[in-house]
Amino acid sequence: MGPSGELFDITIIGSGPAGLYGAFYAGMRGMKTKILDALPELGGQLVTLYPEKWVFDVGGFPRILAKDLARNLVDQAMTFSPTVYLGENVTLVKMREDDGGRAFEISTDKGATHLTRTIVLTAGIGAFKPKKLDAPGVGDFEGRGVHYFVTEKEKFRGKDILIVGGGDSAVDWSLNLLDVARKITLVHRRDRFRAHEESVKELMNSPVNIMTFHELKSVHGNERMERAVVFDNRSRAETVLDVDDVILNLGFHADLGPIREWGLELDKGGIKVNYRMETNVKGIFAAGDVASHPGKLKLISTGFGEVATAVNFAKNLIDPASKVYPGHSSDMREVPSARKRS
Ligand SMILES: Cc1cc2nc3c(=O)[nH]c(=O)nc-3n(C[C@H](O)[C@H](O)[C@H](O)COP(=O)(O)OP(=O)(O)OC[C@H]3O[C@@H](n4cnc5c(N)ncnc54)[C@H](O)[C@@H]3O)c2cc1C
Repeated sequence: MGPSGELFDITIIGSGPAGLYGAFYAGMRGMKTKILDALPELGGQLVTLYPEKWVFDVGGFPRILAKDLARNLVDQAMTFSPTVYLGENVTLVKMREDDGGRAFEISTDKGATHLTRTIVLTAGIGAFKPKKLDAPGVGDFEGRGVHYFVTEKEKFRGKDILIVGGGDSAVDWSLNLLDVARKITLVHRRDRFRAHEESVKELMNSPVNIMTFHELKSVHGNERMERAVVFDNRSRAETVLDVDDVILNLGFHADLGPIREWGLELDKGGIKVNYRMETNVKGIFAAGDVASHPGKLKLISTGFGEVATAVNFAKNLIDPASKVYPGHSSDMREVPSARKRS
C-alpha cells in the first residue's frame, strides 16, 4: 500500500503515559496529531503489565491504580481529538524530501503508511506482543475462537469460555466477562494468582470454575471451536471441556526490535536524545522510557516532562514563528472542551 493519508504535524509512536500526555500537549499547541500503538488498547505498561497495582509517585495523585491513571491519561489525550491507530506495529521510518518539504513516512506491519512532519517516539521498552501458546489447534483457531485480547465483551455473550493464565489480566477478564458469558473456566498452572489481592478474593467467591495446577493441552473443533483439553500438571489426568472460546492471558514480550534499524543513535539500550529530546535525526524526538540521556530516570513523572519538552520543540521546528515555551495552560483563551465540562 502506498502513502495513504494526510500529512500530520506530529505522530506519536507509543501510547504509554508519555505518549498519551504528549498527544494532549500537541493538541494544546494546535498540532494535527496522530497516535500509533502496536497494542489494541491505549495505556502502555500501565494497562499491559500492572493495571491493578497502585502508583504512588505521580504528582497530584496520592495513590492511583495504574489502570485508572491510564484512563485519566486517555481522557486528557482525547481533549483535542487526535487520530488514533491501534494494533499497528511501526516497522520502518523513512525520510521523504519530495513535495516541497521534509516529511517522514511511517510504515506498519498492517501495510499502512502514515505521513508526518515530526515524530515523537514514546515506545517505552518496545512493542508489546502477547506470549503465544504452542499447543495443538491453538494456531489454527487464532482469531476464530482463540484470543489474546478482549476488545469487545459482547462477542462472548452466552458463550462457554476458557481463560488461561494467573495474572491480573486472567483474573480481571474472568470477573469482567461473568455478566455476559454462560460459563467461565479459569485454568492456571500454579495454585497462587499473581493478581491484585482484592480481585483474587472476588474471584474465589465468584461462580468462575477455577482449575489450579492445570494447563491447556489442545483445542478442537471444525468450523468453530468446540472443545479444549486441559491436564493436571501433577497427575497428568486430562479433562475435556466444552468451550466456544479460549482467552490466553500469558503475559507479554516487549521488543524494541525494528526501532534499532531506523538509523537513530542508541545509548545504553535507549535512543540518545539532547536537552530538546531530539534524536540525531532532525524531526524525530524521543521521550519516556525509550529516551536515553545523562541522569535518565525511567519514571512516569519524568516521561511527562520529557514529552512536554519534545512536543514544544517539535512545534517550534515546524513553525519557527511559534515560541518553544507554550505559556501557562491556565491562561489559554481556547479552553479545551474536556476542561469546560469539569
Ligand atoms: C510492574 C511495574 C511497576 C511500575 N511502577 C511504577 C511506579 O510506581 N511509578 C513510576 O513512575 N513508574 C513505574 N513503572 C515504570 C513505568 O511504567 C514506565 O516508566 C512508563 O510506563 C514508561 O512510559 P512510556 O510512555 O515511556 O512507555 P510504555 O508505557 O512502555 O509504552 C510504550 C508503548 O509504545 C508501544 N510501542 C513500542 N514500540 C512500538 C512500535 N514499534 N510500534 C507501535 N507501538 C509501539 C508499546 O506497545 C506501548 O504501548 C513501573 C513499571 C513496571 C513494569
